[in-house]
Amino acid sequence: MASISLVSAALRRLEGKVALITGGASGIGEATARLFSKHGAQVVIADIQDDLGHSVCKDLESASFVHCNVTKEDEVETAVNMAVSKHGKLDIMFNNAGISGNNNTSILNNTKSEFEQVFSVNVSGAFLGTKHAARVMIPARRGSIINTASTSGVIGGGAPHPYTSSKHAVVGLMRNTAVELEAYGVRVNCVSPYFVPTPMVKNFFKLGEEDEVPKFYSNLKGADLVPEDVAEAVLYLGSDESKYVSGHNLVVDGGFTVLNNGFC
Ligand code: NAD
Repeated sequence: MASISLVSAALRRLEGKVALITGGASGIGEATARLFSKHGAQVVIADIQDDLGHSVCKDLESASFVHCNVTKEDEVETAVNMAVSKHGKLDIMFNNAGISGNNNTSILNNTKSEFEQVFSVNVSGAFLGTKHAARVMIPARRGSIINTASTSGVIGGGAPHPYTSSKHAVVGLMRNTAVELEAYGVRVNCVSPYFVPTPMVKNFFKLGEEDEVPKFYSNLKGADLVPEDVAEAVLYLGSDESKYVSGHNLVVDGGFTVLNNGFC
């Protein structure tokens, strides 16, 4: 009997946990919300796409939606407060909302406003989510904060300058906050995917919904990544199975960054 209950506990790896997911209405965030819910978490989706967010929540066992633009501190603060007032606590903060910026690869053509727009969502959004999650996790003496960075936060040349710079900044923010929050039992990590066919990437390449995202390294396993593969990595970082993992950037790329830095 004991072994059966252990198995079922393992199947629901987030039973009793409360998770807030920014950018949870689409792509990687949506896949994570669905997986978290399957594993027993109570999920709050925070996004600017209200209709999509509500419709994802309808499919899930215990999920709610809050409109939240991650560039606005009062909205991030409200989203965190809503999760806590509804469920009594916040165990997992997934700072995932992000934008690619436009497909402009020359520094000579980049504008300051392009940089500021990308940084505002990708970096300030992760900063505000980390700050307000920490505000409630520190007194609780536990929590897992996960930021979506990218392989573009590990190597150069994979995306335009504003996006690459922003994702390197997200990794830096994670490393610094992991050091500060370790004393309070709060873990901070990143997940860094390679290309995943989501609306963000399709918009970037100006592709239609049915069009396939180009495979730059079709010999790599990472070329076939789907949002659910990234969600599995986030599940690990959110669960107690990663209780000693903090300050880590978990790259999900089928070996792309190793290949890119290697000589074979
Ligand atoms: P997506 O467009 O499917 O999802 C992004 C979500 O973020 C959307 O629901 C969108 O409404 C939301 N969002 C955008 N701006 C927001 C804001 N200001 N406030 C709140 N929500 C906002 O794209 P995705 O690919 O799933 O992107 C998720 C994360 O993954 C992003 O941080 C992205 O940079 C990162 N990422 C994506 C890829 C990829 O190839 N798709 C690779 C590496 C990293």
